[in-house]
Formats: sequence, C-alpha cells, structure tokens
Amino acid sequence: MRCPYCGSEDTQVKDSRPAEDNTSIRRRRICPDCGGRFTTFERVQLRELMVIKKTGRKVLFDRDKLVRSFEIALRKRPVDRDRIERAVSGIVRRLESSGETEISSEQIGLQVLEALKSLDDVAFVRYASVYRDFSHAEDFEHVIEEINAKIARDPLDP
Ligand SMILES: [Zn+2]
Repeated sequence: MRCPYCGSEDTQVKDSRPAEDNTSIRRRRICPDCGGRFTTFERVQLRELMVIKKTGRKVLFDRDKLVRSFEIALRKRPVDRDRIERAVSGIVRRLESSGETEISSEQIGLQVLEALKSLDDVAFVRYASVYRDFSHAEDFEHVIEEINAKIARDPLDP
C-alpha cells in the first residue's frame, strides 16, 4: 500500500483488527520513509454496482466517493470516523442486497440523508441543501419535513 503522504511503496502494517461487526479488517500502517501513519480498511466486494447519474451517465459505484460525501457534510462536526464507516457500510450492504445492478444517484443521496439524519443535524441540513437541487422526490420532502420538525423542537447548537 502506497504511503498517501510521500508516495513510498514500502509501508508496514502495525496492527490489524476486525471492524464493523467483522465485515472488514482495519489495518494501521506506518511509512518507514516519512513516519506517516494511516488506516486502511479491507472488505469483501460482493458485486459491482452501477450508479445512474442525473444526466443518465452510468458510472461504477465508488465507496470512497460515498465516504467523501459524508466527510464533506460532516466537516468539523463531532462525529467519529468509525460511525461514518459504519453508516457507509450500512448503505453499501443495503445497495448490495437490493438485488439491483443499477441504482440512481438520487436513491443513494436519499440513503445518505437518512444516515446523516441519525448522525448529525447540521450535516443533514448541509447535505439536504445540496440534495434539494437535484431531487423533488416525495420521499425527500417527507424527510425534510421530519428533520425540520425535529430541529424546531430541539434547536441546533450555535
Ligand atoms: Zn511516507
């Protein structure tokens, strides 16, 4: 595994342990060249999913992109990396067990929203404002109403 900091090809595994209910292996790695430390996750890929973009273009489902959506929405929010990983794994498992080989980016976005709703209200609202631009689905309106009601009862931290 190449070091993400200096590009060295020669990184070492310091520690391996099961994560996320044994659906993945988490490895702590260290780069002997620059001393950089990073974590990798190893998982089973059940099959390949295609995502249909709003434009109609199809792209291979990319778990890392899903993680990045969460990271952007959760930027500077107090949510553990492990919780993000679990939320992403949950979505991937649902997608994989749906039996579909193609899924719309809108459906995935809705699942991200649902997951964010239970992780962090601020991140939910951030993501919702992006998602609103590409969806007018009834499901989405319903989710927004729900979160708005929740925020009204329990105002966001300043
Ligand atoms: Zn390095």
